[in-house]
Amino acid sequence: MKEDFYDILGVSKDASAAEIKKAYRKMALRYHPDKNPDDKEAEEKFKKAAEAYEVLSDADKKARYDQFGHQAFEGAGGFGGGGMNMDDIFSQFGDIFGGAFGGGGFGGGFGSGGRRVVKGSNLRIRVKLTLEDVANGVEKKIKVKRKVQAEGVTYKTCSTCNGQGQVTRVTNTILGRMQTASACPTCGGAGQSIDKRPDGSDAQGLISKEETVSVKIPAGVVDGMQLKVTGKGNSAPGNGIAGDLLVAIQEENHETLKREGDNLHYDLYVSLPDAVLGSSMEIDTVSGKVRIKIEPGVQSGKILRLRGKGITSINGYGKGDLLVHVNVWTPKTLNKKQKEFFETMREDEHFQPKPESSDKSFFEKVKDMFS
Ligand SMILES: [Zn+2]
Repeated sequence: MKEDFYDILGVSKDASAAEIKKAYRKMALRYHPDKNPDDKEAEEKFKKAAEAYEVLSDADKKARYDQFGHQAFEGAGGFGGGGMNMDDIFSQFGDIFGGAFGGGGFGGGFGSGGRRVVKGSNLRIRVKLTLEDVANGVEKKIKVKRKVQAEGVTYKTCSTCNGQGQVTRVTNTILGRMQTASACPTCGGAGQSIDKRPDGSDAQGLISKEETVSVKIPAGVVDGMQLKVTGKGNSAPGNGIAGDLLVAIQEENHETLKREGDNLHYDLYVSLPDAVLGSSMEIDTVSGKVRIKIEPGVQSGKILRLRGKGITSINGYGKGDLLVHVNVWTPKTLNKKQKEFFETMREDEHFQPKPESSDKSFFEKVKDMFS
């Protein structure tokens, strides 16, 4: 039996929209994963509350729920079995908390009683990858300058807000006296401030430290993609949590291989005698050089497909191919002897083009279809 949405949020069936929002906000703050790391029960409650709020905050969905209960959302498009994922939940927060969650700097989520879980700022870094790195995946050791807590820093409860993290102001309006709570200007919402800090540390008791971070880059990443290394950004003062290290991928061009999705292209130039007599040639691949066979009589424009010699797909489904484009290279000048040879061959019926259906151009194939 699925729990009643009103019960989950702890409000009555005739609660107003504002009451529902307030109740959800309270639940979200209490069970927020930042505040309850590795607490499965809290996470479950957090998700349930989000699911209930998703329905009860929407007039249309609420009306359906009031009339039909959970049945209203069984099957297509409903919450039937799946529930919401964390990304959905966090995307909901924008309008409830005004973007207070997940921001950079001295921000982060709220704690109980208005105190904030302070999150350190994110660090951004760009990493250049060769096509070989992209194709096979790579582990990079990246040097970053992080802000970490200096040794010997001590904290005390903020005296402005008495550790509450927020200050309440009473203002007179035409509607009467109004109370507004806002983040404490002294401690930025953390509820504590620096007591003592060693020389060389900044106002937050942090010092810069160079650190080598190991980043596992999966195969198949694309230029511009951003990977997140949780907790390797700047530390936060006090008992806050560290920000993240955001790694932007920059793909370097390869000398001979061109990437197109998970496939690679290679332009192969074959001499006229090699094309006529057949040969074998070495070509570049992302896992070293490979020797391929050129059949006698190969045509210019032929594409040889080397299966699985492309890029490992980022989503783990197989590998792309390496497509070798054959270009027969024609000499621009000839000496007398060579010229005589080709003059003779010009008369030879054997040298007249006789394309087979597999050699025909796209236009010829289309023409065939209509004749
Ligand atoms: Zn304060």
